[in-house]
Amino acid sequence: MAIATTSPVTGEVLRRFDELTPEELEDKLARAAAAAASYRLTSIEERAGWLQHAAERLEKEIESVSRMITTEMGKTFRAAEEEVVKCVHGLRFYAAEGPAFLRDLDGDSGRVHAKQTFVTYQPIGVVLAVMPWNLPLWQAMRFAAPALMAGNVGLLKHASNVPQCALYLEELFRDAGFPDDVFQTLLISARRVEQVLRDPRVAAATLTGSEPAGRSVATIAGDEIKKVVLELGGSDPFIVMPSTNLDRATDVAVKARCLNNGQSCINGKRFFVHQDIGDAFIEMFVAKMGALVVGDPMDEGTDVGPLATESGRRDVESYVDDAVGKGATVLLGGQRPDGPGWFYPPTVLTGITPEMNMYHEEVFGPVAQVWTVPSLEEALREANGHPYGLGSNLWSEDEAERELFVRDVQSGMAFVNGNTTSYPEIPFGGVKRSGYGRELSDLGMREFMNAKTVWIGQDA
Ligand code: NAP
Repeated sequence: MAIATTSPVTGEVLRRFDELTPEELEDKLARAAAAAASYRLTSIEERAGWLQHAAERLEKEIESVSRMITTEMGKTFRAAEEEVVKCVHGLRFYAAEGPAFLRDLDGDSGRVHAKQTFVTYQPIGVVLAVMPWNLPLWQAMRFAAPALMAGNVGLLKHASNVPQCALYLEELFRDAGFPDDVFQTLLISARRVEQVLRDPRVAAATLTGSEPAGRSVATIAGDEIKKVVLELGGSDPFIVMPSTNLDRATDVAVKARCLNNGQSCINGKRFFVHQDIGDAFIEMFVAKMGALVVGDPMDEGTDVGPLATESGRRDVESYVDDAVGKGATVLLGGQRPDGPGWFYPPTVLTGITPEMNMYHEEVFGPVAQVWTVPSLEEALREANGHPYGLGSNLWSEDEAERELFVRDVQSGMAFVNGNTTSYPEIPFGGVKRSGYGRELSDLGMREFMNAKTVWIGQDA
């Protein structure tokens, strides 16, 4: 894939970027290693100060950065603004809370025959981040803010269709006062990730993206015995029970499925609705999905912009065509519009069966699959039968149902009466084929730290 900014609205290539030459890549790796040796010795207070400066600068540039995001990947300007505001918050969160997360943890010295024992958290060095385009600032920020706070050095290999966002991040951290080369962007294609990951100067990697990319990076990291965190795909269940307020649940269902033009790993994608409210849910949901305005993402009135890439739209179409060809019912959408750009309408399908590809995989576009189910147990059986386990949602006012859902659902995150989302304050991640490891909160920060056990014996 060429490294370029291509408008998802028109399909026009707006700007091309040269890949790093082998010599330039070697230079960046050497600089990262040199930076890691000294950056780890900077104080926690200094790092927190630089994060604060980055937050201040980003806050001043919300408008221009949001425009850049919308231009490169097509989400609505409003959604891009929300993303940038979240990044500002994330930077401030780690600046404020990082020092507490990095404190030594005292152990019970008496039980281990020591005068003193504790765990001290130390940076592990250069971490490679392979990131996707769908939240081009936030995905990278939720790696970068805790990593830099922890004293690690970042190398960002961003998706090839968001090079301006990638370069902006390098500039942001440099201008915030972080020492030279503490955060660098690598403009390289996916096939060169292996070389970087195998390089002895790189200690670990984190990848947010598709299952095939995750499998490849995990295989290489396993071979090199390097730590890796994987945030992969999802096909989150969204379960709706009769006790809920249907108006509220359908509002959020629409938002869940169409947020980011339907391209979010944690969007509710499979809707399991109790049969007692099945017809009412479907009627309201289809009406609300159908009322969304699809159009230019810069227009204030637009709810859903184009998909980010031409191949992404092809994938969505082929999932829908496959399902329809095998007997699924289209309640809304299902056909690409005429004209330029990579638009795809909000689409609602029922009658999805295991013979259809979308039953087992992830549709990365505004396509909802709806089932009616006789009970919560049946909804959970379907939900848990999927190979992915990222987020999950329940809508219910019933305490026993909530308890069952929270305890039984096989996912990294379980949200009740609210849309799955990420907050810097709480851990984010999945199970099964959605990946492993956690981002955000103190857990995310500690993924890339050496939890060093210290044991000091009694004096002679
Ligand atoms: P993708 O093709 O896997 O790309 C993601 C990143 O991985 C890009 O930087 C890409 O580089 C790189 N890449 C692709 N193949 C690779 C390989 N074999 N080895 C190393 N790097 C490789 O994913 P996408 O289609 O852009 O993004 C959508 C996917 O990301 C969805 O499955 C979505 O669910 C998932 N996602 C997950 C989360 C989460 O937190 N769990 C969040 C957001 C998105 P190039 O651009 O140069 O190909």
